Amino acid sequence: MSARRLEAIDPRGRHSLEAGGSLVPNPSANASNRFLPPPLGRRASMLQEPVLVLNATYEPINVTAVRRAMVLLLKGVAQAEEVHSAEVHSAAHSHKVPSVIRLLAYRHIPQQSRALSRKNILLRDRNTCQFCGRIFSSSELTLDHVLPRSRGGRSSWENLVACCYHCNNTKGDRTPEEAGLKLARRPRPFTLHTSRQLMRLIGHRDERWRKYLFY
Ligand SMILES: [Zn+2]
Repeated sequence: MSARRLEAIDPRGRHSLEAGGSLVPNPSANASNRFLPPPLGRRASMLQEPVLVLNATYEPINVTAVRRAMVLLLKGVAQAEEVHSAEVHSAAHSHKVPSVIRLLAYRHIPQQSRALSRKNILLRDRNTCQFCGRIFSSSELTLDHVLPRSRGGRSSWENLVACCYHCNNTKGDRTPEEAGLKLARRPRPFTLHTSRQLMRLIGHRDERWRKYLFY
């Protein structure tokens, strides 16, 4: 590992992380289709495997799926830094399945662009209802305004939590205290630390991610 790389991923650096999905542009339908014959069985699940996305400076900035990562590779937007031994085949070529990719052009990620999205709130709360503490699939969870909107509660990292439909109904238009519910933990915005923690969780089975995430 070069000195330049160490410097580039110094956690004290000014660049923030985003664990959400807004960073990498959506591949066009054409780009996906050209690359993907009807996905079936193992191939389909492989295409959903997580891929670590690094900025041009080797700073980890996102996690995406193999499918999307390969579109970025084909478009020449990114290059593979680590690959699996498995390959996937398009009409004319076979490609190693990427594990870590790096964007070729540096992308500035301002602090405020840590997208406040349903996906990111669920990620932060690890798909756990913050009132009953049970884990649900994303489709079984909603977002709850801790201080209800009717009371001036904002849609912010600090006021939105993952919540199952049952608890959401129980709570209704009340504060947790009024409804006799207790928050599992105080909701916080993403930090550099949380983002990296999440990436580690997602990639914990992939040894190839280690050197980029300081295991
Ligand atoms: Zn619940």
